[in-house]
Amino acid sequence: MLSLKKIKKEYRTNNFSQKALDNVSLDFRECEFVSILGPSGSGKTTLLNIIGGLDHYDSGDLIINGVSTKKYNDRAWDTYRNHQVGFVFQSYNLIPHQSVLANVELALTLSGVSKKERKKRAIEALNSVGLKDHMHKRPNQLSGGQMQRVAIARSLVNNPSIVLADEPTGALDSKTSEQIMDLLKEVAKDRLVIMVTHNADLAKAYSTRIVELKDGKIISDSNPYNEKKENKESNFKKLKKTSMSFKTALSLSLNNLMTKKGRTILTAFAGSIGIIGIALILSLSNGVNKYIHNVEEEILTSYPIVIEERAVNTSDVLSTIMEAQKKKNHKDKDVIYSNDLMTQMLSTMSSSKNANNITNFIDYLDNETDIKKYTSSITNGYNLELQIYKNDLENIVQVNPNNILDDLGMNTSNNPMVTTSVFVELFENQKINNKMYTLVEGSWPKNYDEVVLLIDENDEISDYTLYALGLKDPKEIKKMYNQILDGKEISVKQTKYKKADLMNLDFKVILNTDYYKKENNFWVNKKDDNTYMKDVLNKALDIKVVGIIKYNDEAIGGSTSGAVMYRSDLKDYIIDKINDTEIVKEQKKNKDINVLTGMKFTNGEDFDYNNLSNEQKMYLQSLSPTEAAALIDTYNKESSASLESVMQTLGVVNKDKPSSLSIFPKDFESKEKIIDIINEYNDQEKAAGRDENVINYTDIVGLMMDGVSTIINVIGYVLIAFVSISLIVSSIMIGIITYISVLERTKEIGILRAIGASKKDISRVFNAETFIVGLFAGLLGIAITLLLNIPINLIIKHLTDISHMTSLPVVGATILVIISILLTTIAGLIPSRIASKKDPVESLRTE
Ligand code: ADP
Ligand code: MG
Repeated sequence: MLSLKKIKKEYRTNNFSQKALDNVSLDFRECEFVSILGPSGSGKTTLLNIIGGLDHYDSGDLIINGVSTKKYNDRAWDTYRNHQVGFVFQSYNLIPHQSVLANVELALTLSGVSKKERKKRAIEALNSVGLKDHMHKRPNQLSGGQMQRVAIARSLVNNPSIVLADEPTGALDSKTSEQIMDLLKEVAKDRLVIMVTHNADLAKAYSTRIVELKDGKIISDSNPYNEKKENKESNFKKLKKTSMSFKTALSLSLNNLMTKKGRTILTAFAGSIGIIGIALILSLSNGVNKYIHNVEEEILTSYPIVIEERAVNTSDVLSTIMEAQKKKNHKDKDVIYSNDLMTQMLSTMSSSKNANNITNFIDYLDNETDIKKYTSSITNGYNLELQIYKNDLENIVQVNPNNILDDLGMNTSNNPMVTTSVFVELFENQKINNKMYTLVEGSWPKNYDEVVLLIDENDEISDYTLYALGLKDPKEIKKMYNQILDGKEISVKQTKYKKADLMNLDFKVILNTDYYKKENNFWVNKKDDNTYMKDVLNKALDIKVVGIIKYNDEAIGGSTSGAVMYRSDLKDYIIDKINDTEIVKEQKKNKDINVLTGMKFTNGEDFDYNNLSNEQKMYLQSLSPTEAAALIDTYNKESSASLESVMQTLGVVNKDKPSSLSIFPKDFESKEKIIDIINEYNDQEKAAGRDENVINYTDIVGLMMDGVSTIINVIGYVLIAFVSISLIVSSIMIGIITYISVLERTKEIGILRAIGASKKDISRVFNAETFIVGLFAGLLGIAITLLLNIPINLIIKHLTDISHMTSLPVVGATILVIISILLTTIAGLIPSRIASKKDPVESLRTE
């Protein structure tokens, strides 16, 4: 069944050549115990290795089960070793980091036996060598004899046809040697055992046949075999290809790594440094981008794209300013030139001052575009000044519009930058409100007659607001102001308000038309008539404070220090009411008569008694002189009034014609889309020759924020490029460490090859190792980054008051771990290739 035909093997080192086997021909029986004797260097090991397929002959042939091995490829040899051959070595060659059981199981793992079956058979094999109780020990916890018995169990576990033992008792005392020989004799009962020894006594005592070698030649054979004479049935098994699963490779490497935890951790740590660097940059730039995105969103809520009835094209104005501030090189050095910025500005502003046809634009938005996809809300603004009073019938105090600054002699009416009103409309979209404000007390208003009080982030309300709301007596401030003007010291004392008290606040809202009462044929303004006003206030709409809100910590652009905020439907309610009043109905009916004077709209002509109707004349005569004078005064004031201005005075608003449109983009990308839509509309109108419909809009944020995120992205990329270098360096290092590991595990490679592992299996073992290291390095890097982010966030919070600035995105972290695995695996490819190419015989020789 096994025969060697004229096998020759020569070792060449430099120009010296050594004949290890010289024309060896031998036939073996299926069941016999052959001892090979011979002095050191006679070629015994070489013979055994060639029989076992670990080493290959130069010439001749090895015939296994009647088949020549001349055409065997690597794979065929691997399969042969795994299924047909069991090796037992002088130095046991167990894998030190695997348990006894795992060592025995290994050959079965390679041949793809199921886990359960593997364990069962390994335990059986260990039982047969009497070591069942020691199966969970590590090899180095056993004695030499026990280790050799484990090696025998391992060689038997796959039930091979041939067991090859190279001086199995060479390292054992004589008593233990006998036990091992007994065992081998037992093994040889149903298979071929070929044992190399130089102990002739043992050979004679136990084996059935002794072959002597000298200088690579057979010099004697005690029981030669002649196949033709004996001709027995073959018990050779059918061969199945062997292959190690990646899982086996992983567990093999994991166990190996576990035996050198310290080094593995250090390696992984070194490998993780690059990952940490990138992960940190990633978390920071992710955090910064999130923050910018947040800021953008906050800004977009505070500064929506606004289209007003009358608009100045801001970018034109800005470019005019830029132009004027440009560095100029005037030729004449003796002359000073004028910079005509102001006149330029005036010209720009007048030329670009444009009445926006908002109604037409809204139509277009509603019918032609999908703008709603990009907006969180679109709100119409109406030119209506709410008339709000303190809820105090004894002491009539108007709180909106208020006159605090005017009373101090500061003229605010001409300065649109100063908002004097403390009554502010909430955003129509509650989502935006929630983003901007936090509710600290009570609830959000649910009805048009409910309002909330806005306080600042320090739980304060400015004294201006307090005076304006009548919570402090406005007369007091006037008195103090006069004292200051007189050069007197004044003392300012902080006042406190209970939240519960503020929650009790309420106000009265009257219609702008409520001031007018028809007396005879005239609508007379009775604002200064206290009795009349008391009556009006008594019947007026009561609005109650139902909650207190506060700017969010992170809200940008919020600086109001106190206000009363009402729902937008309060305005709707008032607008509807006003439209329903007698005076408005009357004015709408008679478009050429001014209801406030009962006269035709004039072009600035003063009061003329002769123009009055008889009724009016009679009424005028019934008045006291002062009343009459007041009426004449009204006449003169209204002399240049138009229908439009009277309507405005009465607070009449056409809901279809908002005075402004605020578009709140969802985010910056959406904002670009919205601007595209506006531009498209403008182009379309221009092309149709309707230049009057072209919309001018104000996009303050766009002017401010351009390019900021681009800069941050660029900085991020540059940093990542730098850190990538450290990632590559650490990968190379891991490659080197893997190479060292290959050197260290040379013996193991030899053992694995001896029990049938293919070259592929070996490289798989090392790839598994780098895979584990890479995975570990990646995970470690992510973990360290997450830990580092904690103090970094604290420091950033301390320095800038921005919390959670760094945050590692999950996707990024995952990708980094994958990169770490990929890089280390690539770095390990070369060492693992080197490992797989190692000659198994040489590997086994190394210590
Ligand atoms: P034995 O096992 O009988 O002591 P070996 O089979 O190990 O002898 O070696 C036979 C001869 O071949 C020896 O002279 C040895 O030096 C030589 N030899 C074995 N392996 C190698 C090798 N890899 N390279 C060079 N010479 C070798
Ligand atoms: Mg030897």
